[in-house]
Amino acid sequence: MMRPLRGVIAVSVGACLALLSSCSSPDAPLPEESGRDIHTFSEPEKVRVKHIDLDLDALFDRKILKGTATLTVEKAASSNAPLILDSRDLSIEKVEVSSDGSKFTATTFEFGKPDPFLGSALTIPLAADSRQVRVQYATSPNASGLQWLDPPQTAGKRMPFLYTQSQAIHARSWIPLQDTPGVRFTYTARVRTPKNLLAIMSAEDNPIGLRTGEYAFRMPLPVPSYLLALAIGDLTFQSVSRRTGVYAEKPVIAEAAKEFEDTEKMLTAAEELFGPYRWGRYDILVAPPSFPLGGMENPRLTFVTSAVIAGDKSLVSQLTHEMAHSWSGNVVTYATWSDFWLSEGFTVYIERRIIERVYGLERAEMQWATGRQDLEAEMARLSSKDQMLRLDLRGRDAEAAFTLVPFEKGALFLLSLEQAFGRNAFDAFLRGYFDYFAFQSITTRQFLEYLRANLLSQRPELAAQIQIEKWAYQPGLPSNAPQLRSAAFLKVEQQAALWLQGKATASELDTEGWNTQQWIHFLRYLTPVPDADKMRELDEAFGFTKSGNAEISGQWLLKVIRRGYEPAYPRLEQFLTTEGGRRYLRPLYEELMKAPGGRARARAIYAKARPMYHPTARAVVDEIVKK
Ligand SMILES: [Zn+2]
Repeated sequence: MMRPLRGVIAVSVGACLALLSSCSSPDAPLPEESGRDIHTFSEPEKVRVKHIDLDLDALFDRKILKGTATLTVEKAASSNAPLILDSRDLSIEKVEVSSDGSKFTATTFEFGKPDPFLGSALTIPLAADSRQVRVQYATSPNASGLQWLDPPQTAGKRMPFLYTQSQAIHARSWIPLQDTPGVRFTYTARVRTPKNLLAIMSAEDNPIGLRTGEYAFRMPLPVPSYLLALAIGDLTFQSVSRRTGVYAEKPVIAEAAKEFEDTEKMLTAAEELFGPYRWGRYDILVAPPSFPLGGMENPRLTFVTSAVIAGDKSLVSQLTHEMAHSWSGNVVTYATWSDFWLSEGFTVYIERRIIERVYGLERAEMQWATGRQDLEAEMARLSSKDQMLRLDLRGRDAEAAFTLVPFEKGALFLLSLEQAFGRNAFDAFLRGYFDYFAFQSITTRQFLEYLRANLLSQRPELAAQIQIEKWAYQPGLPSNAPQLRSAAFLKVEQQAALWLQGKATASELDTEGWNTQQWIHFLRYLTPVPDADKMRELDEAFGFTKSGNAEISGQWLLKVIRRGYEPAYPRLEQFLTTEGGRRYLRPLYEELMKAPGGRARARAIYAKARPMYHPTARAVVDEIVKK
């Protein structure tokens, strides 16, 4: 039986039945899940951290944070269980407990056997009346969540810089805590720095001017540990609107503020679509080029890599993405890393809705089309268990969740719901969902049950065609996944075809007004890789080797390696020794390792570049170059 669906390719219910006997029934039972996070030692069902107060000195000469974390805990009734915290490479000097928050007495503590992914459990016995636990500790210079930059590694070159990256499970390398997205807590902090540096956090009360060497912060809304963030550097602030602004080093601040001048417009668009922004201010930190990610959605203070400053706002969707997390991820959080798509899939979907509203449908369509292309390439290299929205991460690091599947397959699932039920109904559903689960951490099953009760049940005839089990628990894409086309990309392909067929030279092509997405699509379309003469022709016409746009450079340099196009090798080396984003490093080093003579080149470049990379980026490249 075929049931055609508006805008979506028809689905065969027979095929559906063959995969899973219940998959066309909107009421079929969903797989059991425990909701237990396997990437934490903590047992929050027995003792739960409700608030953390930090008091830290940032010691740049030793590259450590040193001080105390005071945790307010809540015990389950009748529990006499100890407090179990996550830690990695922390040295603990003293642990004290208190029943009233003022009088503390020393207690014992014990480290468990270190686990390569999880670090060590830190077990602290609690008395019947223990309400607070104060841990005096210091971090290690190699803490996986901290990057200490020497002055030459910064934009200003005069002062050092520190920034944190707590996601996935690196908060435990700078704070002893219950490091799981399933536990939310409020926090306060005092941070002391060298006098000439500014400290800011994912919290209220970020300073905008005076450098005092001592800063206090407050986050009154409960957040999970992976959203704890701190940056210290030679930072200045520039306001963008009443409630938004940019922190950056001086050499970068003006162009950053210009690039992100639409921040307020995007925030307003998001509020119109999905309800009020709940966090107060929305500020942006422009992180140094070694920042391993495109951005990080730290609440009230998005971190974004300086690589997105393209000069023409063409990479601003990275910022839109982090902003969208203010709804999906930060307000409604995933309970375990297996449910990561609840944050990223929703966020990619919301990001493109904001882009559509602020920059128009054509641009949003390009991003959907590129996303689908990327997803298919990614799934081709992934095992089937990594192609499901709900991931099986047993025996693996939480970092294994970071493929495009949670992002792009998740977004595609939501788009298929939007297309089936219509925008009005789906938007209303999403707003209700964010209200219903606000400031909670939920599992895939909880979402799917909510989806059935609040959307699918309204139109059972459509619900039968949304293959939710296939999306969530099976590899690949359902046969009726949305097809995505971009008219702007079609024009790009026509121009590329003219050149490939020899009907026009590169400089004769009509590329007027192309944005970054179109250039990337153009480069990807050129397969197999053109020969050296053709590469030179492209380079002379479009200046790819000289491009300062990191996304275009990343794409071009892949071709450069595949073709062995020597004139661009100095640029390749320069790119790899200045850009620290993992999304560039992984494909470029992998490609180098496959190229003739590339292994030696990869290792030589890496030897120079490694000190600049973030610890998590080093871990990725270490794996690639040792093969
Ligand atoms: Zn994200």
